[in-house]
Amino acid sequence: MYDYAVLGMGVVGLAVSIRLSSHGYKTILIGESKSASTSSAGVITVQLENIQDILLVKKNIEIIEEFLEKYGGEDAGIVGREFISIENLEDAEESRNLLEKAGVRFKQLASKEALEVWPYFNISEDEIVTHTFEDMSIEAEKFIEYLLKIARENDVELKISKVLQVKLDETPEIVLEDHSTLNSQTVILCLGAWTRKFLENLGIFIPIVTLCCPAYRFRVKEKITAFADEVYESYWRPGFSNTIVGGGYHAEIVNDPRDFFKKPPEKFRRSAEKLLKERVKMDVEFIEEWTGPCSVTPDLDPVIDKIPGSSIFFVDGLRGYGFMRGMTIGYLLADVLVGRESPENIERYSLRRFQGLL
Ligand SMILES: Cc1cc2nc3c(=O)[nH]c(=O)nc-3n(C[C@H](O)[C@H](O)[C@H](O)COP(=O)(O)OP(=O)(O)OC[C@H]3O[C@@H](n4cnc5c(N)ncnc54)[C@H](O)[C@@H]3O)c2cc1C
Repeated sequence: MYDYAVLGMGVVGLAVSIRLSSHGYKTILIGESKSASTSSAGVITVQLENIQDILLVKKNIEIIEEFLEKYGGEDAGIVGREFISIENLEDAEESRNLLEKAGVRFKQLASKEALEVWPYFNISEDEIVTHTFEDMSIEAEKFIEYLLKIARENDVELKISKVLQVKLDETPEIVLEDHSTLNSQTVILCLGAWTRKFLENLGIFIPIVTLCCPAYRFRVKEKITAFADEVYESYWRPGFSNTIVGGGYHAEIVNDPRDFFKKPPEKFRRSAEKLLKERVKMDVEFIEEWTGPCSVTPDLDPVIDKIPGSSIFFVDGLRGYGFMRGMTIGYLLADVLVGRESPENIERYSLRRFQGLL
């Protein structure tokens, strides 16, 4: 019998299980390896649109820094620090207000000044560059391997398997792909975009739309600083050996999990490449493209809740910002479960806020 069974080996499942196990609870993490997390473009930035998210990312960066210090960082997949946003005047003013309120260290540069630092960009006179310093660029697959290593070191039992079902008994029973079963006092579903269908089988409806999001890798001549182009709408970060990873803000709605990793339409790649060339004065050579699922709630905030009358919890709806907030959300839920944080701290993510839609 486990204290906690965490289902789903993405960034959230890994964070929850590492935290629970480090508090001394017998924890098993069960899941399949392919995830939105391993498909992530790997941008972690505090330059987001609301204070709550900025604070979650700040905390996320702190957690990763602690890992780097405790477990070393050579194999964590981190390929860059800092981030810039290229924005029009109005958006830059909004960013300034938000970053000041969130207590983030930043600088804003006019185009002439910015071009002295980053001569490979096209930046026009009516654009402003906002520069932050603690952000991270990460090769996502490497980072997930790194978290798996940390989970093992923290005595999390790892089991690679599809979960067929969780039975809603007093002590939930988990049925694995080979039809073996195991029991746990508490079960936490961290199944990302797969959560909605899994919950439907348990009679719970969550109002989430699933998008299939693409990312691209191009070869470039020199290393770039990670950036969001808020005027032409694309984002990019440095990768291993003179590559860059990112894309435009394109996505397609998908309902069937079999389509979560389907090949992106050719027009998305052409558009991403065009957007990149508008902004960067460099030859770029296409290397690879991939996709993965992002799940989005009506108010864009995550869902953290519990199936009424059971000890089954679930987390979903981290949309295209889950890699940068997933560790914080996972830690928060784990700390609430073991009584180290007040349940009030996750109340705002409850499914009740969508009552009118259910
Ligand atoms: C192309 C792309 C680029 C992105 N770029 C960024 C970015 O730059 N920055 C950022 O912050 N976010 C980014 N995101 C979003 C981010 O990757 C996700 O929000 C985040 O990874 C979600 O994490 P998760 O743990 O909730 O879900 P996931 O990582 O999807 O994990 C869920 C896990 O559950 C497993 N699972 C599902 N059903 C079962 C079952 N029945 N049995 C066993 N296991 C099961 C899945 O296989 C998977 O391993 C991007 C996403 C995509 C697709």
